[in-house]
Amino acid sequence: MRLTLLGTGAADGWPNPFCSCSSCGWARATGTIRGQTAALIDRDMMLDCGPEAPRAAARLGISLAGVRHLLLTHRHPDHTAPPALLWRSWAQRREPLELIGPPAALRECAAWIGPTDPVTITPVAAGDALQAGGRQVRVLAADHPDAAVLYEIDRRLLYATDTGPLPAETLAATAGAEYRLVLLELTGCARQHLDQETFPAQLAALRRRGAVTDATRVVAVHLGHRNPIGPELDRRLAGWGAEAVPDGTVLDVAGDQPPRQPRSPTARRPPRRVLILGGARSGKSVEAERRLAAEPDVTYVATGPAPGPDDVDWATRVTQHRARRPPAWRTVETTDLLALLADPPGPLLIDCLPLWLSAHLDDEPAAHALVAGWRDTSGLVVLVSSEVGSGVHPASALGRRFRDALGALNTRLAEVSDEVWLVTAGIARRLA
Ligand SMILES: [Zn+2]
Ligand SMILES: [Zn+2]
Repeated sequence: MRLTLLGTGAADGWPNPFCSCSSCGWARATGTIRGQTAALIDRDMMLDCGPEAPRAAARLGISLAGVRHLLLTHRHPDHTAPPALLWRSWAQRREPLELIGPPAALRECAAWIGPTDPVTITPVAAGDALQAGGRQVRVLAADHPDAAVLYEIDRRLLYATDTGPLPAETLAATAGAEYRLVLLELTGCARQHLDQETFPAQLAALRRRGAVTDATRVVAVHLGHRNPIGPELDRRLAGWGAEAVPDGTVLDVAGDQPPRQPRSPTARRPPRRVLILGGARSGKSVEAERRLAAEPDVTYVATGPAPGPDDVDWATRVTQHRARRPPAWRTVETTDLLALLADPPGPLLIDCLPLWLSAHLDDEPAAHALVAGWRDTSGLVVLVSSEVGSGVHPASALGRRFRDALGALNTRLAEVSDEVWLVTAGIARRLA
C-alpha cells in the first residue's frame, strides 16, 4: 500500500494566503507551501477531497481516473468539496465511485451527483467496519463537529484528522494495532484540534496501547501557522518520534512484513542521555518536559525535598511544574539518583542537578558515582541543570564554591552525554 499526501495543511493552508504573521512570512519566504490535507492510497482510494486536492494530484502528475472509493471524514469545506463530482462527470467517467462518510458530509454531495452518475453513497458512523476495494476500513470517533470520523485502513494506517484529543473509544479500538503509518493532525489550536501540548499527549496514549511502536511512522498533517516555524517544528517532532513532510510525499505503508522489532513500550528508545542547561526561568524545564511529552511511561524525578510550609515562592513553582506535567507521569522525590539510573523504570526526567548538588556539595565520591551512573545508564534520561557561570559573581564564599562545583559537574556530565542543549529565552540550541 502506497500513500500519497496530496496536502498536509490546515483548512486555510500554511501560509494562510491572507496572513502577515511571522510564521506565514517564513513559509512564503522558504516556499514551504502546505495545501489542505488529503491523501491517495495507491490510485483507487482517496481520503478527503477539499477544493485543493484534485489540483494537487494533477500537479504531482497523478490522474484521479482510477479512484473508486472516496472516504470523507466530515463535511467541513476543506475536506468535502463536492463540485469535484461534477468535474468527474464531465470527464465521462462511467466506472463506479463509492462515497463513504458521515451523513452530514454525504448530504453536501447530493446536489452534485447527476441522476445517471455511477456514484453510490455509504453513510458511516464511528464504530462501523466495512470493506472497500478489498481493504478493511474501520470508522473511529473524532472529537470534532458534525459527527466527524477518523479512518483505519487494513489495520496498518490510521488517518486521524480533524480531531481534538482522541475519544476513549477510539484509543480502545487502536489497542495493539502496531500501525505502520499514523497521520495525526497538528493544526496548532486547541479546540477540537491538536496543538503542541495535545499532539504529543496523543502519541503517548497511542504508544501506551501498542498502537504506535518504534516501527510506526508518525506524520503530522493538517498543519497550520499557529505551530512553530519549520526548523523548530521539525526539532520538536523529532523528539516525539514524528515528522512533518512536504505536500506530495509518497509513503510506503509496508504492510507485507511484520514490524521490524516490536518492543515493550518502556524499552522503545535506545539509551540516550540528554543534558539540558539554562539560566533561571530560561524555559529549560519546559523544554525537558516537552522532550518526553510523547513517551508513554515517564518518571519525573524531583531532586529536592518537598517544600516546607513557609516557603511560599518555592511551593508555588513546584505546584506550577506539577500542573504542567501530564497526569500519567509518576513523580519521585529523591536525591538518590544512582538506583534510578542503574535500572530506569522507563524514561526519566531529572529536575534538577543543582538541587542534587546542594545535598552533595564537596562530596567527590558522590559526584564521581553520578557521572559514572549517567554514562552507563541504559534508558532515555533527560537531566535539567543550571548554567550559572555567566551570572552575577556570588557574594558569599559558599555561593562561589557552589557555582564552581556546578560548572565542573555540568562539564563532566556533558562529556558523556549523547545530547547537550542550552535554553535561552525559551529557545533551545544544541551544543553537542
Ligand atoms: Zn480540516
Ligand atoms: Zn499566519
